[in-house]
Amino acid sequence: MRCEVCGREARKLYPVLIEGVEMMVCDECKKFGKPLTIKKKRVISKQIKKIVPYSKDVFQNMDRDLLPGWGEKIRKAREARGWSREQLGAKVGEKTTTIAKIENEELRPPDKTVEKLEKLLEIQLFEKVEGHVVQNIKKKPLTLGDLIKKDE
Ligand SMILES: [Zn+2]
Repeated sequence: MRCEVCGREARKLYPVLIEGVEMMVCDECKKFGKPLTIKKKRVISKQIKKIVPYSKDVFQNMDRDLLPGWGEKIRKAREARGWSREQLGAKVGEKTTTIAKIENEELRPPDKTVEKLEKLLEIQLFEKVEGHVVQNIKKKPLTLGDLIKKDE
């Protein structure tokens, strides 16, 4: 093994970077370059995207469809009451711009807001989806301990 800089025979050569060139040099010539560590290919394990469990809200969104023309319905009902978008927004806790977007159906309001709008405007916005009732209630099976406690 010969040093690529001085040409001397060396027992060990080190990879260094000299003027941008990778060279194998002896211990003596090592100081002329930047030490180069041999890159080990790091196996970066693919990060598995954590699947965010659906929240209750998402379930509801999936489950409860809005009736077609819901934006128009909201607008008409609001206008029938002589309310401005600002007034309606204040009542349901949404920005005026949000109300505008909702009425244009550019924005799907959260279920809570839809429920408020339904009550406030006395209109139906949700489509009844049958056979799709999502219940998040986890019933804990009774354990023997529970039974004993009940007897006390
Ligand atoms: Zn050398």
